Amino acid sequence: MRAAMERVTDFRVIVIGSGPAGCTAALYLSRANLAPLVLEGLQPGGQLTITTDVENYPGFPEGIQGPKLMELMRQQAERFGAVFRPLEEVQRVEFTKHPFEIHTDQRTYETDAVIIAAGASAMQLGLASEKALQGFGVSYCATCDGFFFKNKQIVVIGGGDSAMEEATFLTKFASKVTIIHRREELRASKIMQERARSNAKIEFVYNTAVEEVIGTKEGGVTSLKLRNLKTNELTEFPTQGLFVAIGHTPNTKPYEGQITLDERGYIVQPHRHSTVTNIQGIFACGDAVDHIYRQAVTAAGSGCQAALDVERWLTHERITERWDLPKGEEERVD
Ligand code: NAP
Repeated sequence: MRAAMERVTDFRVIVIGSGPAGCTAALYLSRANLAPLVLEGLQPGGQLTITTDVENYPGFPEGIQGPKLMELMRQQAERFGAVFRPLEEVQRVEFTKHPFEIHTDQRTYETDAVIIAAGASAMQLGLASEKALQGFGVSYCATCDGFFFKNKQIVVIGGGDSAMEEATFLTKFASKVTIIHRREELRASKIMQERARSNAKIEFVYNTAVEEVIGTKEGGVTSLKLRNLKTNELTEFPTQGLFVAIGHTPNTKPYEGQITLDERGYIVQPHRHSTVTNIQGIFACGDAVDHIYRQAVTAAGSGCQAALDVERWLTHERITERWDLPKGEEERVD
């Protein structure tokens, strides 16, 4: 017989996800006396924890390591009372009744409001050598890491709009960019293909897959072992960097059928000036919503917006009247 799951009812707001969006939401919520629980997920700190130098997050003129930035964001939220719980996976939610329910692999939570900041995952090739060199020459974000490849020869994998866009952007820095695609036809829109094709720094290799990324953490990527999918021939292709641009997947599986998602699984926000989803009390921010900007700073900004929306929604719904607010704070509930 299965033991009953522990039921936790101590948190009025729960934030799902602990990247820049989730941590910023937690910071603003705790500073508004709403100390939330943050379910950190299976990758505490989110996508920045698999990058190295971050040079485009404002406030760090010398740059900062991705994992360090996330540690600082977390500490800042904890300082005001946010509680972080790592490595608990949200499996199912019940948003059709209130209080809302979140079921993880370990507990069931009841809460008045939820912020979904579960992020998105860059799709990976799935090679052990790719994983080993993430942040050491293997990247999933040209905007984040392109600057580190000045005058270098690099490879972009993929045949969609992302690959064309990343390759075109990378020509600002790199001396040569080779797009390697597994088929003969590109999936990208005509206009994006033409832009890439007319760029003198971009070359294409078709019908080819990466079998291994060769390099070291100290020296970075030095070459790729490639397989021609038509002839089966194996070759070694020298390169100083590998950008994998084969798409992103929003981490929204547990919310399917509970809130409105678009055809690619991103969370839909029906109101232009609010982070609320189609369900009052369920808010969303960061890369689970945004497939356009996808930056740490834009995610952090949207986390702040979500926290402010939650605070206003709880006040408006008078749910705050039930809470033990410090004396004087009750006046805020009209
Ligand atoms: P996508 O359109 O799904 O393309 C992914 C590409 O990666 C495909 O060419 C696919 O190959 C390849 N791929 C997938 N898995 C692979 C693997 N394991 N190994 C090697 N190659 C693999 O994804 P996307 O380019 O990220 O675009 C997603 C959506 O965002 C699209 O609707 C796109 O139009 C949009 N977008 C628009 C812009 C823009 O307009 N500025 C920019 C970026 C993205 P196959 O072709 O063989 O399947």
